[in-house]
Amino acid sequence: MNTPGPRCGPKARAVVLNDFARPLALTEFDLPAPPDGGMTVACRYGGICGTDLHLTLGHLEVPLPLVLGHEGLGTVHRLGEGTTGDALGRPLAAGDTVMWASSIACGTCHACRMLREPTLCAGRRTYGVNRPTTTGQPLAGAWADFITLDPGTTVVRVDPGTDPLAAMSLACAGPTMVHALWERCPTRAGQVVVVQGSGPVGLAAAALAQLCGAYVIVVGGPPARLEAARAAGIGDQHLEVVSSGDLDAAYTAIGARTGGRGADLVIECTGVPQALEQGTYMARRGGEYLVVGQYTDGGSTWFNAHQIVYRQLRVTGSWAFTGAHLIEYLRLLPALTARFDLAGLVTVFPLGEVEQALRQVAAGGVIKAVLES
Ligand SMILES: [Zn+2]
Ligand SMILES: [Zn+2]
Repeated sequence: MNTPGPRCGPKARAVVLNDFARPLALTEFDLPAPPDGGMTVACRYGGICGTDLHLTLGHLEVPLPLVLGHEGLGTVHRLGEGTTGDALGRPLAAGDTVMWASSIACGTCHACRMLREPTLCAGRRTYGVNRPTTTGQPLAGAWADFITLDPGTTVVRVDPGTDPLAAMSLACAGPTMVHALWERCPTRAGQVVVVQGSGPVGLAAAALAQLCGAYVIVVGGPPARLEAARAAGIGDQHLEVVSSGDLDAAYTAIGARTGGRGADLVIECTGVPQALEQGTYMARRGGEYLVVGQYTDGGSTWFNAHQIVYRQLRVTGSWAFTGAHLIEYLRLLPALTARFDLAGLVTVFPLGEVEQALRQVAAGGVIKAVLES
């Protein structure tokens, strides 16, 4: 899609969240000129993330109305005045395939300036999440024919030859886990890693840990999800606990693999608060517990706090990702696709079938849904 065809015209369709827990609207907008230092991108794919389900239901406080979609891939439509390259300084031109980081950190708050932790930025602006159509650029989400990318966005040119569906398979989960596993709590070759959860975040955790040389046990479900993971080559061992509810069998299998000690590292990727207690019993004494899945507030949960001290667990949280983690994810993509069938995890829906796609995601009927413009 090097030039806008008649399908695009001067208008752009976009999926708008006007009210929580109400049907989404497919609305037409005029296509604005690109901002200086930014660009307009013709979206090809906009990914659906678990967070989007929470957004549509009002589980997160976000301003409305809002064009949804915080992960996407598309082609440069028009570069704004002064924009010449991507985040790595490589030249950009209309027609180039790009991905972009969902968030822009403010650069001036305490987290940005003093902690040097831009994921914790108090003023983070996130496409498809806190960019209402009524202030700034209205087309600020990827579930649309076009998105306007502001100056300061980390835009990365995607190498020709990259399978765009493979890139989209872990578009949000991949960089999230690069942040978690590269910076917050690294794993090493020879370790046994348990991943709780078999959604995109769990599969990203498993694939990246395998790439690091760990032996990875995926604890999740339902069976079809684990079968899809197995078919993609993700995970060395798969333990079904969702439909069976059989945690004891999982503890036994983890013990059998680890000489009765438990995993070196357990990574929580379920988003289910109760998974925390289960996860502490899967880690060995002196092991580590990396909690990534609890991105929305699922409420309090009971767990035996003694287990943290008895096992001398190092418990680490990890929140979101930055543009640097997206760049790292794209750099790793050839190694990931050489080993895993990432594109096979993706189901494509036309933009106009967003409601059907969301229902499929909610029902767990697909691993990763993407909308095609
Ligand atoms: Zn996401
Ligand atoms: Zn900040």
